[in-house]
Amino acid sequence: MPSSSSAHHDSASASTSTLTQRLNAGEAPRASDTLLINEQSRLREAGGERVIKFGFGQSPFPVFTPAVEALAAHAADKAYLPVQGLAAAREAVAAFHREVDGVNWQAGEMLLAPGSKLLLFALMKALPADAEVLIPDPAWVSYAPQARMCNLATRRVTCSFESRWQVNAASLEEALSDRDEPNNRVRLLILNQPGNPTGLSLNHAEQAKLAEVARRHDLLVLSDEIYGVLDHDGSHRAFARDYPEGTVTTTGLSKWCGAGGWRLGAMHVPASLGEALFSRLLGIASETWSSVASPIQEAACVAYQRTPALDAYITRQRKILAEIGRWAAAELDDAAIRTHAPDGGFYLYPDFEAHREALAQRGITTGSELTEVLLDECGVALLPGSAFGAPAERLTVRLAYVDFDGAALLTTSGPVIAHPVLEKVRDGIHAITAFVKALESGTNKTPNDG
Ligand code: PMP
Ligand code: GLU
Repeated sequence: MPSSSSAHHDSASASTSTLTQRLNAGEAPRASDTLLINEQSRLREAGGERVIKFGFGQSPFPVFTPAVEALAAHAADKAYLPVQGLAAAREAVAAFHREVDGVNWQAGEMLLAPGSKLLLFALMKALPADAEVLIPDPAWVSYAPQARMCNLATRRVTCSFESRWQVNAASLEEALSDRDEPNNRVRLLILNQPGNPTGLSLNHAEQAKLAEVARRHDLLVLSDEIYGVLDHDGSHRAFARDYPEGTVTTTGLSKWCGAGGWRLGAMHVPASLGEALFSRLLGIASETWSSVASPIQEAACVAYQRTPALDAYITRQRKILAEIGRWAAAELDDAAIRTHAPDGGFYLYPDFEAHREALAQRGITTGSELTEVLLDECGVALLPGSAFGAPAERLTVRLAYVDFDGAALLTTSGPVIAHPVLEKVRDGIHAITAFVKALESGTNKTPNDG
């Protein structure tokens, strides 16, 4: 019975193909740019190329040793822990930030998750369907895709080199001046200081003014302070100090404790925002990640205990990151690639605008064409400003100056920029400045440019 079996086969493949078509209809969310550049750099290296990895923002420092020891000691812990997080771990995080940031956080207002990235997502998922998310341009790669996954409307707040790429009271007022806005709509403003991709923060007086605008407009603020502890001179000011009643703060072990792959994030939700919001967040947590890995929470209890050794570990990281950041920004600036020296973290946001004409002569008119050429010709991996919400034609890039072995530097004292482990960082910055100098003198034109 060949015909019936082939009919059966046909109908099976027809239904498979319609299912496949339905599953694949619509725009596919792309892999996150940060994780993509990490993979691409790894592949090039595996193929024998020398890649200077300024693309992915991962801490170059080892995890704080006592926390590693605690993790090892608890490796056999196997029980699921409470959805909100272990009480002792929540108290350790809250107490640490009470001391370091002068906030008034209580353990009962904290929620732990496998990374602050999931907490940001959970917050957006917990908002009413008509909420709007205000996202700075530039801002970290994942806020906008997360808002889209939650079907929330987004709006960009455009920042400039002159305003140090920061949302300030004036730019926020302008973004909120839309008269058609229903005034009972929840609006979530995302802030991130010290910033990714910029490395920059508002000064305290400007932050107080910004908080005043947020309060006047009854905004919900998500203050992403994952780099707060890595403020280079320890002057990070939690947004919750200026707008405690409306600020949700996220933080975690990924940056200052060198433990990105451990996946431990924490969120503070002030009691003033109500029980229903917190219950919704717990509901999302319990239906998705259940709880953070037990050994990781035990290790977090140790990581968040302030001791002289922990303070020394943090202070040394800050000094090293400050020195490299200042050095790199000055080198780039000297080559007319204008770059603000960073306030914290490990990013720079260089702007090649002064070289637009020379770049255009080489057919480079967008940030992503610029990063492609810098990867192909200089072996330097960077991310274009467009990954952070900038218009395609803006000639900014994000530079994560983390391609070095931080462990070797932690045990040193004094200046580090000439240290052998920073060779790749120095080479990468010099390759970029040499590229631009050659471009301006016309010596690196492609042959068919004439
Ligand atoms: N926010 C910013 C600005 C980041 O750079 C990162 C990078 N990891 C995150 C949030 C997420 O951090 P995690 O999920 O590792 O806590
Ligand atoms: N935060 C890092 C970055 O911006 C990478 C980790 C991530 O995106 O989850 O490069």
